[in-house]
Amino acid sequence: MIGKKLPFTREQLDSILEKYPTPFHIYDEKGIRAYAQKLTAAYSWNKGFKEYYAIKACPNPYLMKILRSEGFGIDCSSLAELELAERVGLRGEEIMFTSNDTPVEDFQKAVKLGAIINLDDISHIPFLEQCAGIPELICFRYNPGSLKEGNVIIGNPEEAKYGFTREQLFDGYRMMKEKGVKRFGLHTMVASNELDPNYFIETAEILFDLIVELSQTLDISFEFVNLGGGIGIPYKPEQTPVDLDVMSKGIQKLYHELIIGNNLKPLKIYFESGRAITGPYGFLVTKVLHIKDTYKKYAGVDACMANLMRPALYGSYHHITVVGKGQQPHKNLYDVTGSLCENNDKFAVNRLLPEIEPGDIIVIHDTGAHGHAMGFNYNGKLRSAELLLRENGEVKEIRRAETLEDYFATLDFNGLGSFNV
Ligand SMILES: *Cc1c(COP(=O)(O)O)cnc(C)c1O
Repeated sequence: MIGKKLPFTREQLDSILEKYPTPFHIYDEKGIRAYAQKLTAAYSWNKGFKEYYAIKACPNPYLMKILRSEGFGIDCSSLAELELAERVGLRGEEIMFTSNDTPVEDFQKAVKLGAIINLDDISHIPFLEQCAGIPELICFRYNPGSLKEGNVIIGNPEEAKYGFTREQLFDGYRMMKEKGVKRFGLHTMVASNELDPNYFIETAEILFDLIVELSQTLDISFEFVNLGGGIGIPYKPEQTPVDLDVMSKGIQKLYHELIIGNNLKPLKIYFESGRAITGPYGFLVTKVLHIKDTYKKYAGVDACMANLMRPALYGSYHHITVVGKGQQPHKNLYDVTGSLCENNDKFAVNRLLPEIEPGDIIVIHDTGAHGHAMGFNYNGKLRSAELLLRENGEVKEIRRAETLEDYFATLDFNGLGSFNV
């Protein structure tokens, strides 16, 4: 194979294909666990370190159960995600609730579950108090504005709808202190798919500085700092993953200088990464239906942007392997397309690939985050199954494919007869 590896052999894939029709996403448990362990090990210097998996990246309860067994919590931002957390058996401070523009029911559910509430705005303080009461532990989301440059996906912090300004943080924590809150956390999330470890080290510095100032000014102490998500992954074969040890060592050094150096209480480091945890360990497997040769060459597959929206949405690169042809010359230029009546329904544009024929199996890499999760039903396209490749090589279906019955379930066709027109 050129560029990127697959977690299964050709024979394994053939036997999976005998049982499960394409398209499907398949997740590699071994890869997910190995990365989870690597992340945890990198922060072993920090007592209480925890990663809260941003469940929106791949909201499957089986994956969450695996991640919980690696010591991870869950980061939720909606009622459905809280409900999923509850059904997996997560409770209390295993759940971080980082929402925005939050509905009443969501706050009520989060408080009921004992989740850590991470407020997005100062106006949410009275709102939360009225609808669910003030919990004993509270966290605010900071938007550093012009202090921090954003990146492509998340945009410039000053343009972002999220978080408190610096001044609002001082006012907000003071209000909470007056309401009797004694346990505090601080959060920010300013990056998305960032590959430079220094970006996270700089973010930690901004937050540590702020914690020192808030603690000293308001005479409160912080239990944790949540550095958010946004750890990038190497979608392109020539890219390299974020060096977790470099990142951790940089943060550890600042921790010593700023937190210990200012005699603050021990501070737990939290992350709420999604993409890095499962992204590289998911694969969309699809079959070539048609080869079309007009002004360009098109390889039409049986998956479409309803299964993986990132290329159409952000022009993102996802690596493609034509199974069994990895050693052949990649000299043919293709657009790899789905069947939606949308011209941006393309997994790749002008991609050099081996010669493709109908019936070939194509694997699209790095679909384990924001892949199946972003699925939708436009054009009546049905969301695919999700499979899990277990560490022992067995395959388990962890979500069945949608059926036409699922698609029509919200319509009452029986009512058509008595509907007079
Ligand atoms: C999406 C999101 C995350 C996870 O981001 P990744 O890029 O998947 O790591 C974490 N926190 C919040 C608040 C988010 O919205």
